[in-house]
Amino acid sequence: MPLPRRKSVASGRELWYYHSMKTTELTTEEVVSAFSRRLLPWFETAARDLPWRHTDDPYAIWVSEIMLQQTRVAAVLGYYQRFLAAFPTVEDLANADEEKLLKLWEGLGYYSRARNLHRCARIVAGELGGRFPETYEGLLRLPGIGDYTAAAVASAAFGQRCPAVDGNVYRVLTRLTDCPDPIGDAAGKRRVRDWAESAMPWDKHGIRLYNQATMDLGATVCIPVGAPRCDVCPMGDMCLARLRGTAELRPVRVPKKPRRMEDRTVFVLLRGEETALRKRGPRGLLAGLWEFPNVEGKLTEEQVSDCLRLWGLTVKEWRQRLTARHIFTHVEWDMLCYVLEVEGSGQGLAWMDREGFARAALPSAFARCAEALTERWEGR
Ligand code: SF4
Repeated sequence: MPLPRRKSVASGRELWYYHSMKTTELTTEEVVSAFSRRLLPWFETAARDLPWRHTDDPYAIWVSEIMLQQTRVAAVLGYYQRFLAAFPTVEDLANADEEKLLKLWEGLGYYSRARNLHRCARIVAGELGGRFPETYEGLLRLPGIGDYTAAAVASAAFGQRCPAVDGNVYRVLTRLTDCPDPIGDAAGKRRVRDWAESAMPWDKHGIRLYNQATMDLGATVCIPVGAPRCDVCPMGDMCLARLRGTAELRPVRVPKKPRRMEDRTVFVLLRGEETALRKRGPRGLLAGLWEFPNVEGKLTEEQVSDCLRLWGLTVKEWRQRLTARHIFTHVEWDMLCYVLEVEGSGQGLAWMDREGFARAALPSAFARCAEALTERWEGR
């Protein structure tokens, strides 16, 4: 992304530091104050060319920020283009059919984001006359917009001076300052947010770029996994963690709670050219989405026959048995999947032909089962 050149102004002590033998470290305040002076010139040449950086349309920026929550840039790119092609304006999204919206979201995960996008679009298109609030506080009142997203949209779309602190920014700033506070510590979080704010430029142009630039530095140079690329980092000669050899120890992590393991038996039911799906409940994991019928535990064939009989189905033929695994944030499913021909209707099941199945938004947790079904339908 071509950015206009800007003049970099270094403080007296910073200049002295560069030209001295560098035996003395800069103070934390000096490092923070030098941060954006180095960051923006670096961003002029190193910015990633991402489609949402070519616009100041708050709608497009908001969609990108929601998609990027918990999701890698590479995974978002295709979804973003398809989404904006299907719903080019906030009014189009407000009027969208929820099934169509969820289908477009299929595979991106965290489906509550899609539902919140829809709710939020209805508020903006209806109550707010199609205009997004221009302030951090106004954005924060909308559904699905938290602290980070409000700051990211307010700064990139409206030039509001709000620092957006995500994991990338947290990592860069705790390394630059060699901050020993553990992640999750409230005072530490406040400190990092204050640093991010005090380093933020005051001019609109700098404000619009600053959050994105910090994020790019964290995503491409001061990386989360593996050794940081200090040799190509614009902060390399003043970074306190680098100078002290603690870069890979920052930020200080607290051990995560182990993920809960859950065994499940999943049924891919075939009845002629149809298969059965059911809707999940309105709350909790994958709320309101379609799923292959499934139960907790790993059932033997005998137990499967009994279970399906209770549902009003009779097994006609066992076709295939396969295993799959899916990792959610807090739980991991270890699945045993049976593909089988049945007779009957079954309680609470929706029977769908290929067309209906293709329209249903199915979480990627069931991708392997869907693949097995497609193979059956295609006679492979
Ligand atoms: S010098 Fe290294 S540790 Fe410090 S900010 Fe740059 S990449 Fe991160």
